[in-house]
Amino acid sequence: MMDRRLLLLVASLCFVGSVSASAGDADPLYKSCLDECQSTGCVGENCFHHCRFSSDGAPLEGPWYMQEPLYLRWKRWDCESDCRYNCMMRREKEREALGLGPVKYHGKWPFLRVLALQEPVSVALSALNLIMHFHGWLSFFILLYYKLPLRPQRRRTYYEFTGLWHIYGILAMNSWFWSTVFHCRDVDLTEKLDYSSAVALLGYSLILAVLRTFNVREEARRVMFAAPLLAFVTTHILFLNFYNLDYGWNMTVCVLMGIAQLLLWAVWAGVTHHPSRWKLWVVVFAGGLAMLLEIYDFPPYKGFVDAHALWHATTIPLTYLWWSFIRDDAEFRTLTLLKKAK
Ligand SMILES: [Zn+2]
Repeated sequence: MMDRRLLLLVASLCFVGSVSASAGDADPLYKSCLDECQSTGCVGENCFHHCRFSSDGAPLEGPWYMQEPLYLRWKRWDCESDCRYNCMMRREKEREALGLGPVKYHGKWPFLRVLALQEPVSVALSALNLIMHFHGWLSFFILLYYKLPLRPQRRRTYYEFTGLWHIYGILAMNSWFWSTVFHCRDVDLTEKLDYSSAVALLGYSLILAVLRTFNVREEARRVMFAAPLLAFVTTHILFLNFYNLDYGWNMTVCVLMGIAQLLLWAVWAGVTHHPSRWKLWVVVFAGGLAMLLEIYDFPPYKGFVDAHALWHATTIPLTYLWWSFIRDDAEFRTLTLLKKAK
């Protein structure tokens, strides 16, 4: 009952989100500003030296041997990014004077840049998330290999999910690394890397949730459980990168994968006698609330803090608690197995 209502809410929020996306770049005044900027390299008094490319007259499209060197492509990206930013700021000023609220441009709210960083608050928070995952993973590693006893044969850990959590740690750090890069600089490449890494992490953590909550320990059964999910996630990443970066569809996939794992952990926390199940409760409840922030976004406060940045902020304490649960789980399983062995 409860989760059906949640699904309905999520579905309606998705719909609202996709309808109101990118009204700004459809605005004819913004479009003409952008066209002018890309041909003259100036918005009003502001001129950008990146826009003085193609001095050799080589076309960007065409066969590879006719293309401009890579650095000129970078310049072109810089020029496009400067033009978009300055035209957006000009339009926003005009809109503000008319008493109109901010709108999105190319799927994003108008953010104020700091030191050439596009979304400075999200950059800092993504970096903090990366540090938290590194800290969590490192303390997990130290606990397992230096504090808890190891199996006498081949010095392996007693905990059966060690390898799976190592992969999780690596995927999480990879994802937050690309999130940091993407919020510094939003170009096609960084966007795809960020989205792909996030989908990979979310898909993998769903697989991990299935394997841990159903306590799947044999290699063959693990493969059987993971294979269909792995195939789906891989196809979805290929679809985003090489066919269509469909934000609405990607959001639906991510939200469904997120809800599925939160439900798995919640049900498991309800039936298990795990000593640290309260940590799961907190992570599931707060994680669910935080997901609403990601879905229901609002324009940046003072041009800096939007719902997405707040979402990155909430995951910092949750990451700490999450790795603390993982460590507890490793300790709990190890002690249980040792007791059994005696
Ligand atoms: Zn982000």
